[in-house]
Amino acid sequence: MSRLPIPFSRQVAADLLDVVAPRDCVSCAAPGRTLCAQCLAVLRSSGPVLDHRRVGCAAVAGGWLEGVLGATVRGYKAGAGRGLARPLSQVLAAAVEHLVRGEKSITGATAHSGAYRLVAIPPSLRARWTRGDDVLGRVVDLAVAALRRRGIPVERARWLEPARLVRDQRGLGARSRRLNVEGSLRVPPGIRSCARRSLGPVIIVDDVLTTGATLREAIRALAEADPEGSDTPGRIVGAAVIAATRGL
Ligand SMILES: [Zn+2]
Repeated sequence: MSRLPIPFSRQVAADLLDVVAPRDCVSCAAPGRTLCAQCLAVLRSSGPVLDHRRVGCAAVAGGWLEGVLGATVRGYKAGAGRGLARPLSQVLAAAVEHLVRGEKSITGATAHSGAYRLVAIPPSLRARWTRGDDVLGRVVDLAVAALRRRGIPVERARWLEPARLVRDQRGLGARSRRLNVEGSLRVPPGIRSCARRSLGPVIIVDDVLTTGATLREAIRALAEADPEGSDTPGRIVGAAVIAATRGL
């Protein structure tokens, strides 16, 4: 526990700074706000993109990891300010909504009785130690609230936890990423029975889609806890992420 106070203090200090001190825009560096009005407008105009190849199921991203969205995601993950969580949650909510509407058009609105369960990739233990924070979780919670206001039945389900430490994925190739995350997630034993009983459809949520290795690992972990033991449980509707890299 001796490791926690330093990064936690740094995060609190950064949040305080975000409130009391004007910051430069993470995208265009204009002084005044963490995300200036012009860049915010660009962010809001980005439309969801669909990818069928990387994850093994439908994956919808709020946009490409480039331009304003790329700068905002990178800035937020680097600790640029809590104020970026809300605009990013709107991007994620748009991706989830796209997935839900696409699914309804295929299966019909009454195919599922329960709310859509958003299962977020948990912060790795290492990330928790160095950041003292669940940065994706905050975005997911805001997205859930936004979707509910629009009448889309969603709730967050904490059905995944780290099973072991993983290396930082940055700089790793596709094969190394797959090996790095293999077996790294699990459904917590205490909620397995709850997850098994749920008839609600599941949407897996992450911040960035790169090779799809993490999302495939999440599907594997959920399948392992599935009573029917199939590789792709029918109740997984797809994956929703804030942004996806191009060209993989
Ligand atoms: Zn700007």
